[in-house]
Amino acid sequence: METVLFLTSVEPDGTLAKPALETLNAALSLAAGLDNAPLIVGLVGDAAQSAANTIATCGAATFLAVTGGDFTSSRYATDAAAAEALAKAAHATVIIAPATSRWSRVMAGVACRLGGRIDTHATAITVTSGVPLITRWYYRQRMVATQHRAQRPWVITLDPGCAEPWNGSAGIAQLESVTVNLPATAKRTTVVGLQSPAADAQTIRPDAKLLFVAGAGWTKKQADGQIHAEEAPKLILDFLKSSQASLGGTKSVVDLSGEGEAVLPFMTHLNQVGQTGATPRHAKGLATCCHGEEPHVVGWRFVNERRVINTDPNCSWTRGKADVVYVADAFAVMRKLNERVAKK
Ligand SMILES: Cc1cc2nc3c(=O)[nH]c(=O)nc-3n(C[C@H](O)[C@H](O)[C@H](O)COP(=O)(O)OP(=O)(O)OC[C@H]3O[C@@H](n4cnc5c(N)ncnc54)[C@H](O)[C@@H]3O)c2cc1C
Repeated sequence: METVLFLTSVEPDGTLAKPALETLNAALSLAAGLDNAPLIVGLVGDAAQSAANTIATCGAATFLAVTGGDFTSSRYATDAAAAEALAKAAHATVIIAPATSRWSRVMAGVACRLGGRIDTHATAITVTSGVPLITRWYYRQRMVATQHRAQRPWVITLDPGCAEPWNGSAGIAQLESVTVNLPATAKRTTVVGLQSPAADAQTIRPDAKLLFVAGAGWTKKQADGQIHAEEAPKLILDFLKSSQASLGGTKSVVDLSGEGEAVLPFMTHLNQVGQTGATPRHAKGLATCCHGEEPHVVGWRFVNERRVINTDPNCSWTRGKADVVYVADAFAVMRKLNERVAKK
């Protein structure tokens, strides 16, 4: 019989983040599908009791935790040691962790230490005829595969946004502590602080309902023969502020920023959507001044409703890649839209 370990870290404020709750739900349905295999929760962090209490009623057989100041921050040596100890204490055959930056960087090493195998970036975990299966996309979301593995333990990282977060009532979890004896070499890296942009400078918002994409057209000469270097950033930032949409960019527009020709100075490579960029998962997307070339549009694979504003009726979006194409000047449309939103 399989034993499923749900592995995650506790946030510094003692909570579990959304990707962790999504992964918990996926792990619970996997365990249920495997003839109600035992599900064990493994938590890593400064302290874990309050986080465990928030999921106390999830149906887990056991709650394990590696805790202490050494495990508060993301650090390869300590996270890997904690994950290895939890997997061994749980006798886990399938280990599921969220594909956050923290766990993505350690889980391959953990699988190696356990003599197991890993599959990363799973987008679904199911069971067919008693066999656990994962769904994973390849070649920049152009092909989808369903896979299983005979090797145990099998480590799986689940991409954020692919499952509903677990939502149940809190309780009191019986937390069992797992001790990890860290050598001094595991603590050579120290976290001295965190730097993050001011809240209003943060334009990448994975939880936003709308993805607003700006293309290179915003930086080009318009019908009047002029580049509108002042108006373009203002229209975009005003819209982002009022709609709280997430900002994406095309490769062309983010490359321009990198080359110092920034008409949109807030656009970085982190905003890039596409083959060599990100594959966001927003419910709706609006592409503006963007041609819709295949290496860009492949990044829209998981955006459900796609709308486009382009002056060119023959832009690449019109070839079946968008749900709605407005053949219009994005400057004029966004000016009007911002006016309307401001009135509301
Ligand atoms: C190996 C490889 C990987 C790549 N990876 C990526 C990737 O990850 N992401 C990515 O984005 N690209 C990627 N590309 C580049 C991609 O092929 C395109 O070159 C790029 O997406 C074009 O960007 P764009 O649509 O912003 O610019 P353009 O092609 O210059 O299009 C600008 C558009 O703006 C429109 N426009 C201009 N003014 C207005 C206006 N006032 N109102 C409305 N519309 C207007 C024009 O009609 C035009 O269609 C990759 C290419 C290669 C070869």
